[in-house]
Amino acid sequence: MKELNRLSEEITHILAAGEVVERPASCVKEVIENSIDAGATLIDIRLEKGGIKKIEVYDNGKGIHPEDIEYVFERHTTSKIKSVDDIFKIKTMGFRGEALCAISSVSKVILISRHYQQEQGCKVEVEGGKLTSKTVYPFEKGTKIIIEDLFFNTPARLKFLKSPSTEQKYCTEVVEKIAICYPEISFRMQVDSKRQLFTPGDGKVESAIASVFGSEILKNLIDFYLEEQGLKVWGYFVNPVLSKSTRSGYYFYVNRRFIRSKLLSSCIDEAFKNSILTGRFPIVFLFVEIDPVDVDVNVHPAKLEIKFKDERFVYNTVYKAVLKALQSEKIIPKPDLDS
Ligand code: ADP
Ligand code: MG
Repeated sequence: MKELNRLSEEITHILAAGEVVERPASCVKEVIENSIDAGATLIDIRLEKGGIKKIEVYDNGKGIHPEDIEYVFERHTTSKIKSVDDIFKIKTMGFRGEALCAISSVSKVILISRHYQQEQGCKVEVEGGKLTSKTVYPFEKGTKIIIEDLFFNTPARLKFLKSPSTEQKYCTEVVEKIAICYPEISFRMQVDSKRQLFTPGDGKVESAIASVFGSEILKNLIDFYLEEQGLKVWGYFVNPVLSKSTRSGYYFYVNRRFIRSKLLSSCIDEAFKNSILTGRFPIVFLFVEIDPVDVDVNVHPAKLEIKFKDERFVYNTVYKAVLKALQSEKIIPKPDLDS
């Protein structure tokens, strides 16, 4: 080759990491999703300097087998899918086998885990994608991952990060969003040694919402539910006496994955049109449960956007569900039957 270079594996990993790991919050999301996939009922998150200095996450899930532990950092190693068919019926949060590879290529990682069938735990250390040690390590249960000095080897990326307090805010948002749709998991978060969040893990979405938003929001929750042709739409909105000046109170989950969606945003806008002041937006927790074959989750690198096969049907069902609840709460005046 004359002018072409074949890029080294180290460089290709760093380039690929850019897609998955944008900031500390993206690491927090990926690592928590791994804990959920491992069947954890407790996830403990500790952050220092907005996660830039350190992200530490412990879970009590099934653990990683000692024969697998160093391979989780390779690209495209996953225990979650095997065949092309599996891609179209994904039930886990992860499936691409990219996150730990991406994270470990731009940080220093310590991973300690004890597989549920093993007597002993195991500890590995990886720096900038290179394995530096593997030892037997006494560990009671589950997995702990410590991610330090994010972007230590990519100073240009480090420069793009915001202040620790802003990065912290992004991390907190990620944890809160996930905690709301996994109420059976107790989430605990400490920031610079101070407790920031605690959800009880009692299985109730209301309890998780109360932990995150407080009792005022809890008192004003109104629930909705509709099931049509296998599509289940349910959730809560907050009585629009409490509203926001932006759509930041739109919490959308599809098959327990937090997503952004123009379709669902405009559907909520439309449903609330006559029950909220112009320029104000409701707080809505919307859960859509849909057959995995009717939705493509593989259209966005951080899986934040998805594609419904039948957008109109989803829109109409959500609209009907929300409107019915607004009407029965008399938030929309019903037409006067006598006139
Ligand atoms: P993916 O989640 O897409 O499979 P990751 O790079 O996030 O890819 O993780 C690679 C693999 O490491 C997972 O498939 C899983 O087998 C294992 N793993 C990662 N974190 C954990 C954890 N907390 N508990 C158990 N296994 C884990
Ligand atoms: Mg993952």
